[in-house]
Amino acid sequence: MTDNGKNGSAHTGRGSQRLAETVAGLIEKDIMKEGWRTGAVLGSERDLIERYGVSRAVFREAVRLVEHHQMARMRRGPGGGLVVTEPDPGIVRDAARVFLRHAAVSRRQLFEARMALELAGVTTATEMLTERGIATLTDALDTEQELMDRGVTLGHARNLHRVIAELAGNPAITLFVEVLAQLDEDMVQHEWESDEEPGQGRRDAAADSHAAHQAIVAAIVAGDAPLAQHRMRRHLQAIATLLEDES
Ligand SMILES: [Zn+2]
Repeated sequence: MTDNGKNGSAHTGRGSQRLAETVAGLIEKDIMKEGWRTGAVLGSERDLIERYGVSRAVFREAVRLVEHHQMARMRRGPGGGLVVTEPDPGIVRDAARVFLRHAAVSRRQLFEARMALELAGVTTATEMLTERGIATLTDALDTEQELMDRGVTLGHARNLHRVIAELAGNPAITLFVEVLAQLDEDMVQHEWESDEEPGQGRRDAAADSHAAHQAIVAAIVAGDAPLAQHRMRRHLQAIATLLEDES
């Protein structure tokens, strides 16, 4: 976001597209300045065209960008205007996954990034643990057990990592832990999808993960951050070698 757009970038380079990007930046800055209140109306199209001092075409292109960033959408009709929205975390996560797949991220690279994030997350989660947090962790382990009993060998394990990340109260860690965990699982699933029935190896891996999760949760609940870290590290290392073992 820049402040220099009104001073003439419209007359250089890609012209109106650049100006639209600048106006989109100004709109987004105004949304944040007003506290990003979902549902608030920033103004009618006519008001906003006047406020930002651009043509209707440029303004509409700016709105398209703001809508794409999921910060607001234009509501037509009486009482309409540019309405503040909030980003859908699912869409954000999907976009990040698509981006990383396109960037041809390797499992090794995913593992490195996950390790850094999840070790930070498990430490903070342990330090900030509340009674409610303990209940959430226990629920996640129970759900995992139920899924395992029903023979689900994929997908069950992701939830606990998300719960731990959420307990750390850091939205950056939560977002990327979820993205990376899902992506790693996509890759494992891709390798495994040829198998009709989960074999013994997969059931063993799921059981190992569940046992590791129980041990991690026990360390968190005991308030032992170094132990929780140690167990998380060992668990992620085991996940990283999952496909290497099979080949
Ligand atoms: Zn796990």
